[in-house]
Formats: sequence, structure tokens, C-alpha cells
Amino acid sequence: MLRSFFLYLSRQKKLERWLLSFGVAQKAARHFVAGETLPEAMEVVQDLSSRGLLATLDHLGEEVHAVEEAAAATEDYREILEEIARRQLPCTISVKLSQLGLDISEENCRAHLRLLADCAQWTGSFVQVDMESSAHTEPTLALIADLRKSYSSLGAVIQSYLYRSEQDVRRLVEQGIRVRLCKGAYKEPPSVAYPHKADVDANFLRLMRILLESRLYHSIATHDPRMIEETCNTAREIGLPSDGFEFQMLYGIRRDWQRRLVEQGYRLRIYIPFGKQWFPYFMRRLAERPANVLFVVRGLVR
Ligand SMILES: Cc1cc2nc3c(=O)[nH]c(=O)nc-3n(C[C@H](O)[C@H](O)[C@H](O)COP(=O)(O)OP(=O)(O)OC[C@H]3O[C@@H](n4cnc5c(N)ncnc54)[C@H](O)[C@@H]3O)c2cc1C
Repeated sequence: MLRSFFLYLSRQKKLERWLLSFGVAQKAARHFVAGETLPEAMEVVQDLSSRGLLATLDHLGEEVHAVEEAAAATEDYREILEEIARRQLPCTISVKLSQLGLDISEENCRAHLRLLADCAQWTGSFVQVDMESSAHTEPTLALIADLRKSYSSLGAVIQSYLYRSEQDVRRLVEQGIRVRLCKGAYKEPPSVAYPHKADVDANFLRLMRILLESRLYHSIATHDPRMIEETCNTAREIGLPSDGFEFQMLYGIRRDWQRRLVEQGYRLRIYIPFGKQWFPYFMRRLAERPANVLFVVRGLVR
């Protein structure tokens, strides 16, 4: 019930404006969001980097309804890549193709993604294309596969809740494309996705093994201690060194495990959202784990 409540809040624009006028929500959100501006986000990247963590930046954006908005979002990401290069930080970008205009014009979106892949290639960074709802899976993977022929700076995301994912993982590995493996965050029908968590977890472990055995450099994105431990065990079993892959976690989540992995010598990349449109993202984080509400309230009181 609490989950539905926060998801409902994430869509209430008037409430958002009212809450923002007090400044408390901004303060609370800082646990999960790096700030509203690029300099604020860069400070966080710099701080993480000084503690041995890698980063990937997600510029939180509104829904894109016009080609001009998609072009503006692309330009923002290009500036982010240039700033990463200027500061020489171990940082990549994570982009959603809907933000680059996939739902408006596939050709336009391809041009936007090409521009970012090109910029990342020249600056030595990387573009990880986030995966959205299952309606986007096919066009997203097709676009990546096509552009990957010219740019090695592009990677895909695979969600273990989808039945199709094993086939997709095998194809991506064949094409030499780097993958971020996650469980999946969208509400999907049982016709396309495993309805039971146990099956999603079992598939995650199956796909993780295929990825590690491919010996390409992949990312295992989870906060689940069992998935993390199994990944470490698999890497040890097949003799993959700890710098042959990386873990990824969201900014502000499971900092205990973040510290532990780095201390054990694993590579860990933190997914860092920032931007003016942080409110819906903040509400989704509270919705996925109501225990986070207590955590945030405690932080505010302190
Ligand atoms: C770096 C990164 C990138 C992602 N990119 C995408 C994407 O492109 N597309 C997409 O659909 N999804 C994406 N996701 C979200 C992902 O699909 C899951 O919805 C999300 O990570 C929750 O799954 P989980 O594996 O962390 O653990 P779950 O199965 O949700 O939970 C298992 C256990 O993990 C721990 N845990 C999980 N979440 C929390 C939390 N918030 N606080 C404390 N402990 C927690 C708890 O111990 C919990 O019992 C991404 C996730 C990460 C970390």
C-alpha cells in the first residue's frame, strides 16, 4: 500500500511544487540524488573516485514529447561527457532512449545516440543504454547492435525478469557488446516476464554466469547480497580476475555493501542520478523500499 502511495505521489505535480517550497524534500532527496546541476554531480563523482569508486551519470529528465526536447537532452549529455573528459574522471553516462526521442522518431533517436557514442569514443568514456519497458526492448537492442558496428563505446542493459533475456544475452555476447545485468524495474505482464521473484533470481544467476564466462567486461547491477555473493563465487570458480567485470549499485543504496566490495578489491560503479527532475525518481526509491522512508527521516532529524 505504501508503495502505491509513493508511486501516486511521484505523479502529483501540485504536491511536488508544494513540498519543494519547504526545501525539506530537497534535503531528503540528497541521499539518492547528487543534486540539480552538473557541478554538484561532478563533486559527487570526484568524491567517490577519491574513495576508489567508479561512476555513471544519469541526467534525470521529464518525458520527452518533441524532437527539440530530445535534441536538448542529447546536448546536455554531450556536455556531461565533455566535463567528464575535462576532469579526467572514471565516469560513464547512462541514457534512456525515450529521453533521446525513441518514441517520437527512431531515426532521430539513432542520430542522437550516434552523437553521444561518437563523443564517448573520442573522450574515452562509455554510453550505457538503460533498458525501459518491454515495448522498448527490441528497438533498443536493434539500435545498439547497429551502432555498435562503428562504436565500441556503447553498452546494453538486460533484465533477468524477461523470458527473452537469455537469447538476448547470447546474441549480445556474440556481437561483443558489453552488458549491464539487472533484475528489471518495470511492471510487466506474465506473458513476457517471470511473475515470481524466485524465477527472476534464478535467471539472473544463469545470465550472470553466461556473461562472466564470455570474458568481456560486463556489469552486474544489484543490491541483493545473494546475487553479489554468487557473482563473486562464479568469478572465482572460472578464474575471472576481480578487474574482469564490475558491480553496479544505485547512489545512496546499500552503502555497507558498497564499502565491503571495494575493500575486497572488486570494481564498483555507482549509478548517480542528478538534475532538476529529481522528485519522481526520489518517490520511486521510497516506493521500492518503504524502509528507506525511516532512513531518510532519521537523516533529516540528525
Ligand atoms: C546500477 C543499476 C542500474 C539499473 N538500471 C536499470 C535499467 O536500465 N532498467 C531496469 O529495468 N532496471 C534497472 N535497475 C533496477 C533493477 O532492475 C532493480 O529493479 C533494482 O536494482 C532492485 O533489484 P535488486 O537486484 O537490487 O534487489 P531486489 O530483488 O529488489 O532485492 C533483493 C535484496 O537486495 C537488497 N536491496 C534491494 N534494494 C534495496 C534498497 N533500495 N535498499 C536496501 N536494500 C536493497 C535487499 O537486501 C533485498 O532483500 C538498475 C539497478 C542498478 C543497481
